[in-house]
Amino acid sequence: MKITGIRTMTVDVPLEEPVITAIHDIRSIGYVLVFVDTEAGVTGEGHLFSLPARHLAPLEAMTAVLGQSLIGEDAHRVEGIWHKLWTEVNFVGHKGVPLFALSALDMALWDARGKALGQPVHRLLGSCRDAVPAYHSGGLWLSRSRDELVAEAKTFLKQGFRAMKMRLGKPRWQEDVERAEAVRDAVGPDIRLMADANQGFDVRHALRLGRALEPVGLDWFEEPVPAYDVAGHAALAAALDTPIATGETEYTRYGFRPLIEAKAADVLMPDLGRVGGVTEFMRVGHMAQAWDLPVSPHLYSEASLQLCGALRNCDLLEYMPWSARLFGDKIEFEDGRARIPDRPGLGFSFDLDALEAFRAAPAAQSAAAPAPKRPSRRAAAKKDEPPAPKTEAKPKARAVPKARAGTKPEAKAPPKPETAPEPAPKPARRKRRDPGKTPWYLRRETEDA
Ligand SMILES: [Mg+2]
Repeated sequence: MKITGIRTMTVDVPLEEPVITAIHDIRSIGYVLVFVDTEAGVTGEGHLFSLPARHLAPLEAMTAVLGQSLIGEDAHRVEGIWHKLWTEVNFVGHKGVPLFALSALDMALWDARGKALGQPVHRLLGSCRDAVPAYHSGGLWLSRSRDELVAEAKTFLKQGFRAMKMRLGKPRWQEDVERAEAVRDAVGPDIRLMADANQGFDVRHALRLGRALEPVGLDWFEEPVPAYDVAGHAALAAALDTPIATGETEYTRYGFRPLIEAKAADVLMPDLGRVGGVTEFMRVGHMAQAWDLPVSPHLYSEASLQLCGALRNCDLLEYMPWSARLFGDKIEFEDGRARIPDRPGLGFSFDLDALEAFRAAPAAQSAAAPAPKRPSRRAAAKKDEPPAPKTEAKPKARAVPKARAGTKPEAKAPPKPETAPEPAPKPARRKRRDPGKTPWYLRRETEDA
């Protein structure tokens, strides 16, 4: 099934209310949607998301560029394509933006495979269940008052959820304990309750809070310290009875292996859009099985259902309603369990008509489109100059600039005019940047600080 084209589209979907965590203030979610077209007429769909949405541009650009390497490949050869892309991004890095792009493309390939074969992805991977318990993650924010927390927890119960996650990160650790106790009292002892610190503490604070939270009976204490602090996670995992969960910002099996080796996590949380797509999520899941560790997907609730349906140790879904607006199909719940879709592919197709209203400005050319023509140096310089007065004929008689060693001249000299033209006013020299001024690429961060 030959791949004939890759297309991308960006959307910036506003949230109904801002999300406040220990380290986030989120107003909208930016998504790059990826489409892999095949000669069979099947189109695979994948996506990645960005916080904040203004980082979409490099993510989309990398996805489009990397996608060019898929043209002409057989969409069924996902393992081979994964390694081709992995090798290609060696220089720019096996983490960060390249891995987001690789993940979204891999997701789209699995979707295409499933659609072509008329099978859901979980069945292609080896199915193990029809439904999975889901915890509600779209609430119980730090911004809620204690009364609001309790009311929201009860709402989730009424909706049928038997598991939910709250956030930690109040300046006084005692307040976090009081809030967790209030939620536990509201939902009772049989409901699974998790708490996420979003990397907001240091080890000392997390240890003190973690010890005080033990009687609450949390299912896990998530990212108590910064994700890169593997030793800190390990110290907390050793000191506390409450399981420690982490891994949502890790890339590939090579990010998860040190966590396992250091005994830094009791629950691993791969993120489908970052870990390396469906292919790499499965590798991490199987690696975790060798240590009898559970994995629970981070976000990507819809697509991750297929992984829950394929991995025996992936038995709790994070339900976050943010991405629901992307798709025409919705997750079906019954008694707090999410059905693993049996529709071909990933089982959720983009609702393109609805998404039209959220289109973000295009950030990069689609890989299927021809590459933009590089402007000449003079044309590029001209963009920044005031318009030159009009003359009858252009007095362009400049010689072709000498090529530097190893480079080609960027533009050919134009043909000489028949008659000698009036000399044009000399273009003003471009001002050199004040060395003390903030460079453009840092300015945004400075403004936001
Ligand atoms: Mg988290």
